[in-house]
Formats: sequence, structure tokens, C-alpha cells
Amino acid sequence: ILSVENLDKSFGAVKILKDINVAIEPGDFLVLVGPSGCGKSTLLNCIAGLEKSTGGEIKIGGRSMNGVSPKDRDIAMVFQSYALYPTMTVGKNITFGMKVRGVPEAEQQRKLNEVAKLLQIDHLLDRKPSQLSGGQRQRVAMGRALVRDPQLFLFDEPLSNLDAKLRVEMRTEIKRLHQTLGASIVYVTHDQIEAMTLATKIVVMKDGIIQQAGTPNEIYNQPANMFVADFMGSPS
Ligand code: ATP
Ligand code: MG
Repeated sequence: ILSVENLDKSFGAVKILKDINVAIEPGDFLVLVGPSGCGKSTLLNCIAGLEKSTGGEIKIGGRSMNGVSPKDRDIAMVFQSYALYPTMTVGKNITFGMKVRGVPEAEQQRKLNEVAKLLQIDHLLDRKPSQLSGGQRQRVAMGRALVRDPQLFLFDEPLSNLDAKLRVEMRTEIKRLHQTLGASIVYVTHDQIEAMTLATKIVVMKDGIIQQAGTPNEIYNQPANMFVADFMGSPS
């Protein structure tokens, strides 16, 4: 469903992504891990079309994304920084994308109620983002992605602002979502436990270079190098 081939990305003279190759099959849950600044968000932004790569190719559903604008990509992204519309209520934030795509009003409301319940934000729909906690904002951002129903979800540390209890609940919810929708997901996290429990496939990155890609079991039990072993906490 997604293939990233020989992708390079520089900001000015600085190379951030170096010859990245990633493939996901339908239904894959790919978790991308690596230290802060290694290029994880940059890779998601390139896949979403928000950053232009400097080399290589991205294909979604077999189709080259070269020159395809973000809104024409069948993707929903949950950003590390949420990126909510500040002047719109929570409800409008969630339904806005559907409105733009011409989804009938009744269907918009049905989906809004469904995800609001799922994310436990049904009591917040009339508030503005500035009146929410970080964790609540994060759930609104997640709701906006969920109502979109895309081929591919991109999640950039979607649970990082939640407390421990909600984090575990949401993790279970995301897992269920993946299983019931059969959605394909690329998911960035710092959390090794999250990676091990959610992933069908893990990609470990360092300094813009993929160190290893494999199943959670392979990554944990047969780390390709010291860095991967250290990072994943593999037994030595
Ligand atoms: P984190 O885990 O902290 O979110 P990350 O792996 O997502 O880190 P990126 O946000 O992809 O890291 O950033 C990778 C590198 O690219 C960093 O060194 C960052 O400073 C740099 N960078 C990101 N965006 C830009 C930009 N617009 N202009 C210049 N440099 C950038
Ligand atoms: Mg990031």
C-alpha cells in the first residue's frame, strides 16, 4: 500500500533522511522508532506530502505521489503538535474535513458522535482547543484522523501527552481499530513497550538512516547492531 524508495531529504545543506526504503502491505502496523532528531517526523511529513523530498520516490497504492498535493493523498495524519484549528470548536475541528469533502451533514454527525464516544471527548465538542488540556487536544487530533477513513494512517507520537492510564486505554483502542478496520498504519513512538505491543513491523532509525527493519521479535531478539540492541533494550 505504501512504498518509500531511496528517499533523500535535506534541509539546506544538511541531509536529514538518507536513502530510506520502507514498504508496507495492507493491514501492516509499522512502528518507527529512533532518538529525537533522527528524522521520524520528517519522514512522515514527506509521506503526507507536507515536505518535498530531495530524491527518491513515494508510492501509495502503487501510484507515485510525485506532485500530488497533501489533500489528494488518501492519508490521515495525527501530528506531534496536533495542529488544531484554534477558532473552531472541537466538533467543527473533527467534522471540517468531512464537510470539505462533501460528506452529508447527517453522516458527519453520526461519525462525530461515534469517534467522540470512542475517544471520551463527547462532553468537549463545544469547546475551543485553547480550553482543552494537552491530552484532550491530542484526542481531538486523533478524532479528526479517524473520521477520515483513509487507506493509510500516519501517527506521530499520538499518545505522548496522555496520562499512563489513558495511554494504555488508547493503545488498546488503536490496536482494536487496526484489527477491525484493517487499516494500514505508520506510527512513531519513543515508547519501546508501545512499539512491541502494537507493531507488526518495526523500523529503527538513527541519524536519518534505517538501522534495521523487521518483526518485533526479530528486532528484539536479533538486533542488527549495538545501537538497535541498546535502543530496544534487547537481552545481551
Ligand atoms: P523527535 O523525536 O524529537 O520528534 P524526529 O525524529 O521527529 O525527532 P525531525 O523532526 O524529523 O526529528 O527532525 C530531524 C532533523 O531535521 C532535526 O535535526 C531537525 O532539527 C531538522 N529539521 C526538521 N525540520 C526542519 C526544517 N523545517 N528546517 C530545518 N531543519 C529541520
Ligand atoms: Mg518528531
